[in-house]
Amino acid sequence: MDRDRILLTPGPLTTTLRTKLAMLHDWGSWDADFIAVTASVRRRLLAIVHGQDSHVVVPLQGSGTFSVEAAVATVVPKDGHVLVLDNGAYCKRASKLTQMMGRRCSVLPFPEDEPVSAAALEARLITEPSISHVVLIHCETGAGVLNPLAAVAEVCQRHGRGLLVDAMSSFAALPIDAREIRFDALVAASGKCLEGVPGMGFVFIRKAVIEACAGRSQSLAMDLHDQFEYMEKTGQWRFTPPTHVVVALSEAIAQFEEEGGQTARLTRYQDNCKTLIDGLSALGLKPFLAAEHQAPIIVTFHAPDHPAYDFKRFYDAVKARGFMLYPGKLTQVETFRVGCIGAIGRIEMQQAVAAVADAMRELGLTRQAA
Ligand SMILES: *Cc1c(COP(=O)(O)O)cnc(C)c1O
Repeated sequence: MDRDRILLTPGPLTTTLRTKLAMLHDWGSWDADFIAVTASVRRRLLAIVHGQDSHVVVPLQGSGTFSVEAAVATVVPKDGHVLVLDNGAYCKRASKLTQMMGRRCSVLPFPEDEPVSAAALEARLITEPSISHVVLIHCETGAGVLNPLAAVAEVCQRHGRGLLVDAMSSFAALPIDAREIRFDALVAASGKCLEGVPGMGFVFIRKAVIEACAGRSQSLAMDLHDQFEYMEKTGQWRFTPPTHVVVALSEAIAQFEEEGGQTARLTRYQDNCKTLIDGLSALGLKPFLAAEHQAPIIVTFHAPDHPAYDFKRFYDAVKARGFMLYPGKLTQVETFRVGCIGAIGRIEMQQAVAAVADAMRELGLTRQAA
């Protein structure tokens, strides 16, 4: 096969040929042409969350986690106290990196098959006034749960606490409007729902907050305030930018806008998600989450209830048919995950369902054990 396989993963994901072709050029990082690309990307990113009046956006080299870590280190004062609303693996990563950044960190745990609760957050904020910032993962990619961003933001605002949102797997697909939802920082990356390639993150920081962030980060490379100041002054990135990633993101954003922006992308992903769940359910595979908690980003399925099931063999059989699945990330139950995001539509999802059906037949998994 000389075609790439379809990535049914939460990033990196399948990109268009047009996005890939954008990477066939060399760019000087200090050159006016590249400075213009960076400025245009930043302007269009801000527009996606309607944050032109309230927020700045600071891009950062690295995978998405680099930007989450940088946001915590830049926005939370050294004597701050962070509360992480935890319903999954990416929440646990956020609390680990918060601790490693030397910030006091508490965790409010929730079951991994349910959204976090704004009411439980409010009760905790009332009893623990030292909490200065709350961390929310918008879509918990571990199981695929959609968390209640608007309700959590409202509680944080009413109680005068800062809010940091990891919107990595939701940004550009699920609606986020900075004019209605108050957050201090919101983090996303190039290689998720914008359908760029991986290699950079970006953090929206509230204008009222960014000035106070000077000198907070204990990291040189990941100091978003420094990156912001330098970029405002020179138009350049502080250190070598991922030039090919930036130009690919610019091309990916152009296609996002042509498609019809966030609402069109959400519609396509919802259709992908429905095609997937309907198709695999007909094969006897059960989604792990109740439908009302499921974000249209990534779906966790229970593994086939059959003694012959082995993820690696299943993965290889589906891969041989042109589709890449994703392992489960739950500790208690045997699962696998299937992404609904990327430059794919209903046809690819139908083909993916057919590939899974065929793989199950080959591996003798079609008859479910009693
Ligand atoms: C993808 C993702 C990240 C970032 O992961 P990286 O591997 O560092 O790119 C962070 N949070 C969530 C919720 C994600 O889906």
